[in-house]
Amino acid sequence: MLRDEFHLPAAPDGAPALYFCGNSLGLQPKGVEEQLSRELRVWREHGVEGWWGGEAGGWLSYHRRLQRDLSAIVGAKPDEVVACNALTVNLHLLLVSFFRPTGRRCKIIMESGAFPSDQHAVRAQLQFHGLDLDRDLIEVAPRRGSATIRTEDIIEQIERAGDELALVLWSGVQYYTGQFFDLPAIATAGRKVGARVGFDLAHAAGNVPLQLHEWGCDFAVWCNYKYLNGGPGAPGGLFVHERHEQDDSLPRLAGWWGHRESDRFQMKPEFVPERGAAGWQVSTAPVLGLAPLLAGLPLFSRAGGMEAVRKQSELLTDQLYRNLQAIRGLRILTPERSADRGAQISAYLPGHRPDLEKQLSRRGLICDYRQDNLDGSGGGVLRLAPAPLYNTLEEVNRIDEVLRSTLALN
Ligand SMILES: *Cc1c(COP(=O)(O)O)cnc(C)c1O
Repeated sequence: MLRDEFHLPAAPDGAPALYFCGNSLGLQPKGVEEQLSRELRVWREHGVEGWWGGEAGGWLSYHRRLQRDLSAIVGAKPDEVVACNALTVNLHLLLVSFFRPTGRRCKIIMESGAFPSDQHAVRAQLQFHGLDLDRDLIEVAPRRGSATIRTEDIIEQIERAGDELALVLWSGVQYYTGQFFDLPAIATAGRKVGARVGFDLAHAAGNVPLQLHEWGCDFAVWCNYKYLNGGPGAPGGLFVHERHEQDDSLPRLAGWWGHRESDRFQMKPEFVPERGAAGWQVSTAPVLGLAPLLAGLPLFSRAGGMEAVRKQSELLTDQLYRNLQAIRGLRILTPERSADRGAQISAYLPGHRPDLEKQLSRRGLICDYRQDNLDGSGGGVLRLAPAPLYNTLEEVNRIDEVLRSTLALN
């Protein structure tokens, strides 16, 4: 789609690699260098004055330059989103505000097998509140023999927890299986029993269309370096629903960058939050970390918005699914229906192949392989993600050859 806007890593033979790892680290948009160079020049030529004046309104309002694009990508209003800190840090900050166990209402529901950082954060928060992991953490698992979780099982557990449920924390697209969850149904069920609802969209933002405002979740977090191509360790994104915009009673781990911009520099001890998501910033905006996003995020509107991106994505991913289905011995973990998955197909490959990732990379296929012994054969899971902005159908079809020839060699 916008392939020419990206730098493509080279395979050992010098041709562009088959890069199917955009779910882990998106490629570098060509415009990044210019955005970074500009801020380096402002810094070089103006020093601290770069915050106030100079070009493009100064760094003080830097986060605001990203809000329009970021909010369009996640289906929010501009003030409901901000890029700051990093995903796990933002998750902690928002759990402090939105996980408020009181009386009977102490439990958290999340998916079993969530990304480790999310598991660590939730367990740490439960412990921080003096709660009992066995009693207060409900993890919804797939049914026996399945890799994916049924919506009806999630809803049933939410309803069963009822007024003991303080928080539903769910991922948008499951990082391991690629399952795209029914987020509006989960948000509705959680709010109906009086719980707060938060989403981790690390693998969903820039991958699938989202309507966070309309779905009504209380908060969401994501990273900007996967499908959003913001570069390694790019600052994360967070969403706080408009209904909390003016709520000064929410506790927060406040810092001066979340203080009202109009009098932030009067250096008073009282914290008055900036309206909206920006009030959850803590430290000085990491300008050099945010700069690449000014090049990467506008590519989504240029591509026609998330609906258009999704259309292209389904084309690529459906084809990849069919191709992988035809390889004997691979067991696909990702749902078959396009609507139930994002841009990633995960497939279990039996047999001990500790060097598979390297072997594939030598043949020009960059993807993710993780040993995970699901059947006692010492096998592992391959994860392949065609990124709709830069991968092509032709590339999807070439994966086949690489996989077949590599696997036959083992
Ligand atoms: C990638 C990912 C993270 C990474 O968190 P960081 O704080 O950016 O290191 C966390 N959670 C999920 C679900 C992820 O996919």
